[in-house]
Amino acid sequence: DKVDNPFVGAKMYVNPEWSAKAAAEPGGSRIANTSTSVWLDRIAAIEGVNGGMGLRDHLDEALKQAGGSPLAINLVVYDLPGRDCAALASNGELGPTELPRYKSEFIDPIAAAVSDPKYASLRITTVIEIDSLPNLVTNAGSRPTATPQCDVMKANGNYVKGVGYALSKLGPIPNVYNYIDAGHHGWLGWDDNFGPSAELFAQAAQAEGSKLEYVTGFITNTANYGPLKEPHFTINDAVGGTSVRQSKWVDWNRYVDELSYAQAFRQRLVQAGFASNIGMLIDTSRNGWGGTARPTGPGPQTNVDTYVNGGKLDRRIHLGNWCNQAGAGLGERPKAAPEAGIDAYLWVKPPGESDGSSSEIPNDEGKGFDRMCDPTYTGNARNGNNMSGALGGAPVSGHWFSAQFQELMKNAHPAL
Ligand code: BGC
Repeated sequence: DKVDNPFVGAKMYVNPEWSAKAAAEPGGSRIANTSTSVWLDRIAAIEGVNGGMGLRDHLDEALKQAGGSPLAINLVVYDLPGRDCAALASNGELGPTELPRYKSEFIDPIAAAVSDPKYASLRITTVIEIDSLPNLVTNAGSRPTATPQCDVMKANGNYVKGVGYALSKLGPIPNVYNYIDAGHHGWLGWDDNFGPSAELFAQAAQAEGSKLEYVTGFITNTANYGPLKEPHFTINDAVGGTSVRQSKWVDWNRYVDELSYAQAFRQRLVQAGFASNIGMLIDTSRNGWGGTARPTGPGPQTNVDTYVNGGKLDRRIHLGNWCNQAGAGLGERPKAAPEAGIDAYLWVKPPGESDGSSSEIPNDEGKGFDRMCDPTYTGNARNGNNMSGALGGAPVSGHWFSAQFQELMKNAHPAL
């Protein structure tokens, strides 16, 4: 029998592999004991890559860390066919039509491991396929942001079917709790995206034999940088009679931060048919925006742009920037039930792991070079043709990026 919120009253799993990398950094021991998620980002990750820990190794270690008490371990399930259709940095190993392999070589073995009775005492939470369904809403069809790859995934239905299949296998397992990726406020917070996303998620949650009840909740801000709360302005503010919604930064969005977005989206998801007790997760690993450049009060009321730009914590050049953002800091430490409707704050993206390489680096992981990770790039339709704001010198996505780890610690908020 599932509990309402699997994080309440539970320890959270510390991934020994991430922990060791963090501890090896100067100053890293301050956070090395923090819970981060385990990414199943390719078929080989189930058995372990290059002699590293596989899924069962993590589950065995989780039993040890639990020591007989409740413990939550979060797994990111991330290997859809045609993965990452609007970007290149996390393109995956499966081609757009390889749904059968996704099912039999990826989801089935994961389901087999987590349903082993040996692990029945663990609370196993999952983050299902980040970025995929949101990409079908915003980056396909007649939108100026559309990509041919997302058009293919929308037409062949393999994102929807893959998510449905994953839920159908994992949902019936009594100690597994599924959270579907719900983008972030700077992606789905606009009216054109908000409702259609909720409806698409409901469709996916009923595909391939899945049921709405197999969904415990949703996660926002995975591997992104949106602050939890913007304390120095709200969406309802105006300057000289002009709404902040008309500022360049907000650009008609309905939300200015992740907490307000997650809470409102929860309601919309319930309206779309999900259970009234679904809960939200927010990835707070890199949304702290602390350090010396953090504004301490509202911006000047010269116009909406000075007001918003002077007061916002989020120091990205544009909300659509997502790769290794300069100036970012660690956010809230993982915490259960921090706010109404929120099951937990988690560190899903392990701090120090790159979002993508700053220049082309050959690799055997299917990872491409996305210029959004190049600090000299001047942008595309998805970031309003702005500079990328990325740090230079970054390795391929998922690989250790020491300079970024150091900056995240330096700009942590709450400070370390
Ligand atoms: C990468 C994955 C990696 C994950 C966590 C993603 O961007 O594509 O390979 O496991 O980040 O760092």
